[in-house]
This record gives sequence, structure tokens and C-alpha cells, in this order.
Amino acid sequence: MTADAREIVICELDGVLALIEHRLHHLYNDTGERNWQAFHAACGGDMPNLPLIQRLNQARAAGTPVVLLSGRGAEVRAQTLQWLHDWQIAHDALWLRPEGDRRPALAFKAEVIERHYPGSRIRRVYESAHHLDVARWHAQQGTPCTLFGPNQGNGATREQFELKTVRHACEHVMLYPFYGDDDYAWEDRCGQLAAGTCLLCQAGEAEAERARQAAAARLAAQARGLPPLEGSERQVAWAEGVRLSAFGGLDKVNAWVARVDAQAEAEDPDHWRAVKQGIARAADYLAAQTEARWWIDHRHGISNSLDGGRALVNAVAEQEGYF
Ligand SMILES: [Zn+2]
Repeated sequence: MTADAREIVICELDGVLALIEHRLHHLYNDTGERNWQAFHAACGGDMPNLPLIQRLNQARAAGTPVVLLSGRGAEVRAQTLQWLHDWQIAHDALWLRPEGDRRPALAFKAEVIERHYPGSRIRRVYESAHHLDVARWHAQQGTPCTLFGPNQGNGATREQFELKTVRHACEHVMLYPFYGDDDYAWEDRCGQLAAGTCLLCQAGEAEAERARQAAAARLAAQARGLPPLEGSERQVAWAEGVRLSAFGGLDKVNAWVARVDAQAEAEDPDHWRAVKQGIARAADYLAAQTEARWWIDHRHGISNSLDGGRALVNAVAEQEGYF
């Protein structure tokens, strides 16, 4: 049986066909620097995802071309071709991100698909959970997309290798490559993964939670009579939370002032009046800050506590000469 000539299968390399955990330390380490060059240069040492290679070979045997489409840079094209050859990974096309292309992977991938495969029916896309935006884009087009989660197991040896299918609590299915010599623990790990939602849903939940918090902060700011903030949507959402925390601290300072007012007034009326005036002027100054950027730049040291409120008031009063 021959498949529709215009039907293709698309597969990512990094984190999908090639298992990259051994070189992730070039991107995520204590220095905080991402050395993409070293990360890509180490691609020749990747473990191939053998069960997936089998699936791709089956698709090709049935007449469906396999297109390798990767965010990996073209500067390692030679190593990539050698690696594909060494592991006998047959394919019909290999697209790597052009050298110097710094766009998000999604922009590059969407362009290749739209420009070079218009009218093709994509039977399935195999994508890494590192690229959730790509997975979402495919979902929007109605293209079946199988996500690969991070490698599991201790990775100590490469002799034992299994591709586990995990149906998450959200009913979405993801594949997880397992390897190492601790396979007695693999079923437990699969159970843990299955008990939670998939990475796509987790990202969606986190986004929804951020939106909920931003909306609550906006309402609280309105209720206080604070002016709207200016900036990008993202900046404003972030800054609202910072501002709310600052005014929460200010509330606690004012509650403290009310508590000690009589005694402080009796002890040193002139000084106490100056303190109260400084606090009131600092509060006015803060209320007048409508640039989201300002709140984001000053987010450190702002907290919803008496000490945080005092520190904030002191910093503003000193800076503005209120005391
Ligand atoms: Zn899900």
C-alpha cells in the first residue's frame, strides 16, 4: 500500500531523535551562560532514540517521506549528517536552522513548512517538550503532534533503552525516553508522570495562574484608586503585582503608625510629625509612579511586610529628601 504522496512525517532532532541530556550542561549551569556553540558541537555524542527510528523507518517503508526539521544550527550540518549515517537513520529531507538565524524555533519551522510543504498533509509531528510553542502551533492547525518529555532514568548506561508512553492525568499522551541501569524504578517513575498533567497543560495552567494574579492585582489597584500603569501588557501585569506588594507594605507601616501614634506624639511631637509627613509624601510619590518599568526596576526590596514597607518608605524619603 502506498500512502498519499503528499503526506509527510516531521521529526525534530534535539530531544526527540537525538537525546541531548549529556550536553544540556552547556546551556544550564552555575555560570548562567548559555554556550549554544558548545551545546551544538557536542551533538555527535548523542544517544539515538532507537524505538523512534524504528517508527520512522516503518513510515518510510509505507511510502511516507520523513522530514527532519530541527532548530539545530546549520553550522553542525556535517556532524549531523555523519551522526545520521552512523546510526543508519534514513530520511528524505534535513532542515537545519540557517547560520545566524536567531529567531525562535517556531518562526523557522513554520516558514519551512509553509514554503516547502504547502498542501502536504502532515501525518504526525514528533516534537520536543522544549518547544511547546511549536506543539501549540501544530495543534492549532489540527496536526497530530507527539511530544517527547525529558529523558528519564539515570542515564548511567545506554544498554537499556525504552520509549515509554505516558497518558497524563489530563488525558494527553507524551513519550519519555528511559535509559540507564535502574530500570527497576522505571514503572514508579511512569506512575508519577502519569499522575500529573502533561507539560503543555502545565505551561497553560501556569499562564492562566499568572493572568488570574494580574487581574486580581489590577482590581486591587483600582480599588485603591491607583492610576493605571503604562507599558507593555506583560510589563503591566508584572508591575501590578510589585506595586500591590509595595502598597501592602505601606498599609502595614500606616497600621504601625496608628498603633504608636499617641505615645510617639507624647515623646517627641516635632520629630514624629516629620516622620508621618515623610511617610505620607513617600506614599504620594509611589502612587505617582505609573511607569510599569519603574516598578519592575525597583521590585527588589519591595515586600508586603512592615519591614519591607519601612525600607521602601525610607528609601523613597531619603532619595527625595523628605526627612
Ligand atoms: Zn495535557
